[in-house]
Amino acid sequence: MTDFSQLNLSSVLRSNLTKLGFVTPTPVQAQAIPPALEGRDVVATAQTGTGKTLAFGLPLLQMLSANKTPGIRAVVLSPTRELALQIDEAIARLAAGTNVRTAVAVGGMSETTQLHRIKRGANLLIATPGRLCDFLDRRLVNLSQAQAVVLDEADRMLDMGFLPSIKEILSQLPSTRQTLLFSATIEKSVAKLVETYVRNPVRVAIGSTTKPVDQVDLHVYEVETDRKVDLLNGLLRQEQGAFLVFARTRHGADRLARHLERAGVKAERIHGDRSQSQRNNALLGFKKGTFRVLVATDVAARGIHVDGIAHVVNYDLPQAPEDFVHRVGRTGRAGARGVASTFSTRSERHEIRRIENELKIRMVRRDHPGAAISAVRAQSTGLSPRP
Ligand code: ADP
Ligand code: MG
Repeated sequence: MTDFSQLNLSSVLRSNLTKLGFVTPTPVQAQAIPPALEGRDVVATAQTGTGKTLAFGLPLLQMLSANKTPGIRAVVLSPTRELALQIDEAIARLAAGTNVRTAVAVGGMSETTQLHRIKRGANLLIATPGRLCDFLDRRLVNLSQAQAVVLDEADRMLDMGFLPSIKEILSQLPSTRQTLLFSATIEKSVAKLVETYVRNPVRVAIGSTTKPVDQVDLHVYEVETDRKVDLLNGLLRQEQGAFLVFARTRHGADRLARHLERAGVKAERIHGDRSQSQRNNALLGFKKGTFRVLVATDVAARGIHVDGIAHVVNYDLPQAPEDFVHRVGRTGRAGARGVASTFSTRSERHEIRRIENELKIRMVRRDHPGAAISAVRAQSTGLSPRP
């Protein structure tokens, strides 16, 4: 498939695709959508930013709009609340003018509103496993009519300890349902899940999922901890566009955002200690451009897609090389170019080498832009740079 028009889709979905500017399918879409439309199970691995949401969203909507039985007929499971809300947004845009209604079930937000949307006749439920299990335990939701389930970011859901919830949810779905599973990697635990719950799937593997995308320039700066804020401010002055900055701890993220605000940079933060509405507002403000910088911890940022993040900064090093891939994948999405800058202290040099070796990448060594400017100034004025 090289063009969405080759697919057997309803006219509403076709025209929505055109309106949204989707013409050429991405590789994961080209390979996953046709078998999914035929009702086959699909197991797909692909890098972040390759368009997986549409790869499952489109077949679900086609299936749901062709059948008018009331009740929940498809479920999408996602590891985080933010991602669930983003999926809902993306699918709602695509579903405009169809008779398909979506609802979300995620923790940290009003249960009443969510249940109201479900009861009003939602057909597609997008949920985090924890909240959905809770609704099932209390018999507030019935999944016995569901014909399809999507496990998005399956590896991450397992990392987050959702296996028992996922098992319970899957046990309440009819065994004849269709299962679509998306994951960055199919390591052991995911392979087990596939073996147990997916039937004779079509396998789709796109590119290397353990390497950052090619269109991201990787830079590394050696900088001592007390100079990191300066360096970040220098980059913010030198470069244009939105910055997503990763901090190791919640506390560190708060402190950094405060520093930036004091330096006159509009910054927000997103991490596990903030309420869901604070997280939503931060993300919304960042998307709208009210804040130029979003400071995030790893868990909170996973799966977030914001168009046009020019720059990702690893203000603190990630815990594991795979977190590096996920962080860096927030920029350079959908074919755009991006820059990822990693700050490393002298004592972390070996960590940089480990990331480079494990991911088989090479980061370009760069100097502090402020330092370079003051050195040039010093040359031209004959003065020595300020310490
Ligand atoms: P993933 O889940 O693989 O990380 P997303 O589904 O979030 O990626 O998609 C990343 C971006 O690519 C989104 O902005 C989406 O609108 C865009 N996109 C997806 N499919 C296409 C397409 N076929 N053509 C153009 N842009 C696309
Ligand atoms: Mg995704």
